[in-house]
Amino acid sequence: MQRPWESAVPGPQGPPSAWSLLPDELEALGCPGHPPSLFGALQRPWTWQGGAPRLGRASRAWLEGACDLHLPRIADRAESGDGTVKLALELADGLRVETVHMPRDLNHPRVTLCLSSQVGCALGCAFCATGAMGIQRNLGAGEIVAQVLLAMTALGPSNPSQLTLVFMGMGEPLHNLEAVHRAIRLLAHPAGLGLPMRRITVSTAGLVAGIDRLAGLHPRPWLAVSLNAGTDGLRDQLMPVNRAHPLADLMAAVRRWKLKPREKLTFEYVLLGGVNDRPADAEALVQALGEFRHRHNLNLIPMNAHPGSPFGAPEGDRVEGFAAILKAQGCFVTLRKSRGRDVGAACGQLVGKAGRDG
Ligand code: SF4
Repeated sequence: MQRPWESAVPGPQGPPSAWSLLPDELEALGCPGHPPSLFGALQRPWTWQGGAPRLGRASRAWLEGACDLHLPRIADRAESGDGTVKLALELADGLRVETVHMPRDLNHPRVTLCLSSQVGCALGCAFCATGAMGIQRNLGAGEIVAQVLLAMTALGPSNPSQLTLVFMGMGEPLHNLEAVHRAIRLLAHPAGLGLPMRRITVSTAGLVAGIDRLAGLHPRPWLAVSLNAGTDGLRDQLMPVNRAHPLADLMAAVRRWKLKPREKLTFEYVLLGGVNDRPADAEALVQALGEFRHRHNLNLIPMNAHPGSPFGAPEGDRVEGFAAILKAQGCFVTLRKSRGRDVGAACGQLVGKAGRDG
C-alpha cells in the first residue's frame, strides 16, 4: 500500500521562477549581461526598490520572457509580544504558507527564519495543525527562496551573516527534497546570500530514504530529527510515519549520516501534557537516543495548543522533571521557549489559514 508521503506531490505550475535558477542556469537559458550579477541583484533584497529587484531594461525584458517574475504577496502579518512575526504569504495560485521570523531577542540583530516547504503536509502527526490540513502541494525552490527574501526585505536582517534558517515550518522538507535542496544551493551561492551550511537546518519527522538521500548531497545542511516518543508504540500513535520507519530504522539512518567536524545533530521532542511527558517517557527517550545523547542537542518544546487539538501543554513541573532525568543521563538538553504562541506562530501551529482566498 502506498503511503501518502510516498506519492508524488505536484509543485507550482508554469515557467520557472526567476528565483529558482542558479547563475549557470540563467546563462544556459540565454540571459544577457553577466548572469552572476543578475543573480546577485535578484537575491539581495536590501538593494531592491518598491519590493522588486533593480534590473537593467534588457535583463528585465529577458527575464519577463523566459521566467516567472512573480513573488508571493505578504497577505498577513501577526506580531507577537516576544518579537516573533508570522508572515502569511499568498502564492501565485492563491494558496498560502507561513514563515516565522524570530529575532534572538527584541533588540538583537540575529534572526532565525522558520521556513515552509509544502502547503500542508502528508505526514499527519497527531499534534500538528499543518498535518491536519493534509497535503495540497509542494513549494517550488523559488517559493522557498522567496520566503527568505521577503522576510529580509520586510523585517531584516539586511546582513545575511545574521541569518539562520530552519526548515521547520509547514510540510516535511524531505518529502519535497528536490526543491528544498535547490533552494539551499541558491541561498548558499556566493553570488547571492552565501549562507554557510551550519546556518541551515533541515528537520525531518523521519523519512529514512530522504535522510539517506540528503546525506549524499552537496552542499549538505545540518540535520534535525523530530522524535516526540522513545518507543515505537507511542510514536506510532503520534507520528504515523513511524509505522513505516520505526525508531530502529530511523536511528540507523541517523548513524549513517557522516558528521563533519563541529557538526551537531539536533533531536526535537514536543512535550504533550499527560501523553509523553512522564518519567518513563524520559527514560525511553534516553534509550532511543543511545550514544547520540552525549554529543548532540536535544530540544524540548512544550506543546502549543491549537484549536481542535486533543493535546495540551505539559505542566511546568513536568517539564523540569523531564529535563532533569535527561540531563542526569548526560543529554545536552535545551528547553525551548515557545516563540510566537500568542499569534499561532509556534511549533505545530502553522496552518496557512484560508488556504485560498475567497
Ligand atoms: S509535525 Fe512536521 S511532519 Fe508532522 S504533520 Fe506537522 S509539518 Fe508534517
